[in-house]
Amino acid sequence: MIYNREIKEKYEADVFVAGGGAAGVAAAVAAARGGADVFLAESAGAFGGLGTTGMVPAFAPFDDGVNTLASGIGMEIRRNVSKHVPLKTYWTSIDAEELKREYDRIVTEAGVRFSFFTTVYDVVTDGRRIESVILGSKSGLFSVKAKVFIDCTGDGDLIAFAGGEFLMGDENGTVMPSTLCSVWANIEKPRILPGKENRFIEKAYADGVLKYEDRHLPGFFHREEGIGGGNIGHVFDVDPTDETSLTKAMLRGREYMLEYERYYKEYLKDGFENMTLVSTAPVLGVRESRRIKCDYMLSVDDFVSRAVFDDEIGRYCYPIDIHVKNTDETEYRRFEEEYTKNYKYKKGESYGIPYRSLIPVSFDNALTAGRCMGTDQKMQASIRVMPGCFITGQAAGAAAALARGDGAVRGVSYTDLSKALTELGAYLPNL
Ligand SMILES: Cc1cc2nc3c(=O)[nH]c(=O)nc-3n(C[C@H](O)[C@H](O)[C@H](O)COP(=O)(O)OP(=O)(O)OC[C@H]3O[C@@H](n4cnc5c(N)ncnc54)[C@H](O)[C@@H]3O)c2cc1C
Repeated sequence: MIYNREIKEKYEADVFVAGGGAAGVAAAVAAARGGADVFLAESAGAFGGLGTTGMVPAFAPFDDGVNTLASGIGMEIRRNVSKHVPLKTYWTSIDAEELKREYDRIVTEAGVRFSFFTTVYDVVTDGRRIESVILGSKSGLFSVKAKVFIDCTGDGDLIAFAGGEFLMGDENGTVMPSTLCSVWANIEKPRILPGKENRFIEKAYADGVLKYEDRHLPGFFHREEGIGGGNIGHVFDVDPTDETSLTKAMLRGREYMLEYERYYKEYLKDGFENMTLVSTAPVLGVRESRRIKCDYMLSVDDFVSRAVFDDEIGRYCYPIDIHVKNTDETEYRRFEEEYTKNYKYKKGESYGIPYRSLIPVSFDNALTAGRCMGTDQKMQASIRVMPGCFITGQAAGAAAALARGDGAVRGVSYTDLSKALTELGAYLPNL
């Protein structure tokens, strides 16, 4: 079928940002603070992506135990939320409503134009140049024209719809499992150590209470006043770029809640006896999706070597956290080895992130940031957490502002970029 119609060009901007998660917010704010006129389109009804709409219950570390790595915009946001949690801590619980308001504030104050309930469905290109995006919203279809386009959709939608190159999953195309996150009430502060909530999994499985013998249970993040954020139950074999697969996964995720409720109440107990489900997230918690092919693909070798780059836009340190691909015991051991031993840094250690890993190979005026940036599969499992997304989003936005004349993102000089990033507060120890 060929569908042909004229649509309205509703906005024109220097910089267009697709997606307002951690990466998209940082990108839009950095670009606006750099003097660009920015338009951001967000599918959901709030900023924050998986950290708010997706009900992911905690921030991973902002620091390497010595240095603040997600400094600048990321740290500004962190300072204004979860104030009762010390800034230097391994994990920080998220109150999603508080975080949504903080994102509203920072984006609005930066002067970014934006609309919620607005999704990128198509892209108009002219050779290696992106001209406009086609957006769908309550008012129908419209287009936005810009000089530079930043893909922060987490799924690499903008670049994929433009026909750009991307990779997905392992050699079989399999991505990490997803989780439908949830919020629960009436949980007393558990005595059990985080990461140990799986101690009765085998028994619950043998008793038929849990459908899958999934030994990897990230578990609850206790907030306060009996509220707990659930990161429980893996949904395997999901294709996050296919709505049929996502639909089935949502059903499975909701089904899990009853299974895990029984598990926590009857097997684990320990403060969970009276737990009540408040809500599951309206979107699936997708850990891994398309990885956009970029000029440099940040790799596990860079993690191992604690890489330093000439065009470094920041550094990060979270371990390589590839969740179990299936319910085999050996796969769980593989996860434990990698996450807790093989790919875990000591205090003060980090890897560099080059600007080139934010430049999609297929286009001259596009950038990307967040969990769909240019990495190999292992490295994605480190940089994907929210502080990592703040670092890369901030850099993409700063670069887009500098490139806004003709859109040529490869023409941005590192001297100018590092100066702009320093002004934003980025951590650049190797200048
Ligand atoms: C279950 C789970 C647990 C996790 N736990 C942690 C944790 O404890 N700590 C931590 O720091 N990180 C955690 N993460 C990782 C982290 O939450 C995400 O990787 C991070 O939020 C990614 O940020 P992002 O901005 O790249 O993408 P997202 O947060 O996915 O944001 C992308 C945004 O783009 C929008 N969007 C998508 N497509 C389009 C489109 N076509 N047009 C317009 N808008 C679009 C989406 O609505 C969304 O708001 C977890 C992830 C999962 C799934």
